[in-house]
Amino acid sequence: LEARYAQSQKMEVVGKLAGGIAHDFNNMLTAILGFSDMLLAQHRPKDVAYKDITSIKASANRAAELVRKLLALARQQTLQNEIINLGAVLTDQVNLLKGIVSEKCDLKIESAPDLWNVMVDRHEFEQALYNLAGNAKDAMPNGGTITISARNVSERETQKFELREFKPGEYVLIEVADTGEGMSREVMEKIFEPFFTTKPVGKGTGLGLASVYGMVKQSGGYIYPDSEAGKGTTFRIYLPRYHADEDTAPKTLQRSKPEPK
Ligand code: ADP
Repeated sequence: LEARYAQSQKMEVVGKLAGGIAHDFNNMLTAILGFSDMLLAQHRPKDVAYKDITSIKASANRAAELVRKLLALARQQTLQNEIINLGAVLTDQVNLLKGIVSEKCDLKIESAPDLWNVMVDRHEFEQALYNLAGNAKDAMPNGGTITISARNVSERETQKFELREFKPGEYVLIEVADTGEGMSREVMEKIFEPFFTTKPVGKGTGLGLASVYGMVKQSGGYIYPDSEAGKGTTFRIYLPRYHADEDTAPKTLQRSKPEPK
């Protein structure tokens, strides 16, 4: 419960930061990046200044990435949910995902046939996949395998779950598994908090999983990490099945049915 309190408090900070300074900050970064490019054009790669300007540019790019993530996280208040088949999204994203995971890692995508539809923000879901794949890659500096899979989960199966806060029902399960270094229990308890990171300064923002968590919660789903140090990590995301009749059911008709006596 304490962890969730920290989560919501930090989300408030994220909102304030994003609303207040992130936008202005972005404009300043655009200037830094623009002038760096102009300076680079005036130097040759072998000049001493060239390397320094490249460093300025790299830092400004990292800052811009951080601002982008902050804004994305704050924007989650207004998701644009649509009816989506995740199998199609996965097929669509294969090439981009391959680019993220680097040559060192194998990427397997296994989507079961006839996946049910879900109601999610497509863009946010894709971002979540990139975040999870990026983390998996970071956890495997010497290479390994990332497996992204999707399948339907029946209500009967979810009834066996001994998880508090899980509402039994029909879900589509997306798993992102890696064979990386895993994480300790202490780390696992904090991973969804905004700004929590174990990565070196400049590499980690601690915003990736916070935004994945936000997307999942906003879609009425659940996310569970499962990790073993030295063996790897699996993230399981359950998104509720979307039933076509959900928003068209004529409720007034039901009410006018004669009451059984
Ligand atoms: P960041 O990637 O910027 O650190 P995240 O919110 O995405 O931020 O992740 C928070 C932390 O969770 C990471 O710093 C890392 O310690 C841990 N983590 C996330 N995914 C994995 C993974 N697949 N394997 C091991 N540790 C992970």
